Amino acid sequence: MKSEGIEGCERFLSPGKGRGVRATRHFQVGDLVFACPAYSYVLTVNERGGHCEFCFTRKDGLSKCGKCKQAYYCNVECQKGDWSMHKLECSAMCSYGENWCPSETVRLVARIIVKQKFQTDLTQSERLLSLKEFESHLDKIDNEKNEMNQTDIAALHHFYSKYLDIPSNAALAELFAQVNCNGFTIEDEELSHLGSAVFPDVALMNHSCNPNVIVTYKGTVAEVRAIQKISPGEEIFNSYIDLLYSTEDRNERLKDSYFFTCDCTECTTKSKDEAKMEIRQKLSTPPEPEEVQEMVSELLEICELSLEKMGSVFVDTNVYMLHMMYQAMGVCLYMQDWDGAMKYGEKIVEPYSVHYPQYSLNVASMYLKLGRLYMGLEKRTQGVKALKKAIAIMNVAFGEDHHYIAEIKKEMEEHK
Ligand SMILES: [Zn+2]
Ligand SMILES: [Zn+2]
Ligand SMILES: [Zn+2]
Repeated sequence: MKSEGIEGCERFLSPGKGRGVRATRHFQVGDLVFACPAYSYVLTVNERGGHCEFCFTRKDGLSKCGKCKQAYYCNVECQKGDWSMHKLECSAMCSYGENWCPSETVRLVARIIVKQKFQTDLTQSERLLSLKEFESHLDKIDNEKNEMNQTDIAALHHFYSKYLDIPSNAALAELFAQVNCNGFTIEDEELSHLGSAVFPDVALMNHSCNPNVIVTYKGTVAEVRAIQKISPGEEIFNSYIDLLYSTEDRNERLKDSYFFTCDCTECTTKSKDEAKMEIRQKLSTPPEPEEVQEMVSELLEICELSLEKMGSVFVDTNVYMLHMMYQAMGVCLYMQDWDGAMKYGEKIVEPYSVHYPQYSLNVASMYLKLGRLYMGLEKRTQGVKALKKAIAIMNVAFGEDHHYIAEIKKEMEEHK
């Protein structure tokens, strides 16, 4: 079973990093490096009705499954295509009713188990790395993660045993750990969560905080595009995490979720840390680390309340302020306070474009949200300006022919 590989890149042993992907030809900014169909995927419960369960197309007027009335499809073809996966859940959702609540990881793992049973050859998603080769890092998992895995295993038995030949608990522990380290979340152009998936070839890329590619999604296909020039022989790096935060924060996250410490140029030079962590000049002594930690955990729950408190220590462009303002913007959007959301968006977007790499989905989605807010508030000039900035990044990250970009251009036309 020899893999056919991918034109333009190859698997190799990256010094100090284990296996990775490197280029075998030149790539310019915006070039598609490779595309990878999902090996397995699942639409998130909250997006049911808005997206087709099978192809993830977003449109009005999808038709629902006549039996469970919870899964929605473009047409009969999509419904048929999805049945081998949907049948795991269709009657279960009917019989459990409101009590049907497996986590998204459990739903994804159930689908992987079915796929593995029937798919014995390597798939188009495994041209460089097969799912079986995924790292699990089971030996490094702490008690908390172990308990979470055990909960997932119990849920799999509870919700799926009628519809699935469930592997041994040891095999399941391995599989859940593999999915936790190698799984992806599929997001739309505003970075809203659409679902979870495994893309083995995409998972082979190592991490850098100064990545040379970005991953976006077209339906259930992951597309990897260059955001820096890449020469033959150069390693191709993706980012596994949100790059807004300081070197210390990023590495805590990498250690916790992926079990390594990053040694990229950003992590060695820490060139952006000072700006990211800037505090108010008039404070004579910097805050204690515990103080900062306390404020950071607070902002998740009571961002509106801590705004005032944090504002006396951090400048508005400090990443903790930005994080909190982002939460506050989310609250405003939820409450349909468009003016409030716009004000936060305006404060966030400039520092975002400084702190993040030149091409970043976080920056693009912020310009997009802000631009759409402006358009809705009849501020056309500002709206067009923000949307154009979003498109400039998206042309590189999504490719110029992506339907998201066509949709934004149409929105700009309609508001004329
Ligand atoms: Zn469809
Ligand atoms: Zn159904
Ligand atoms: Zn790094």
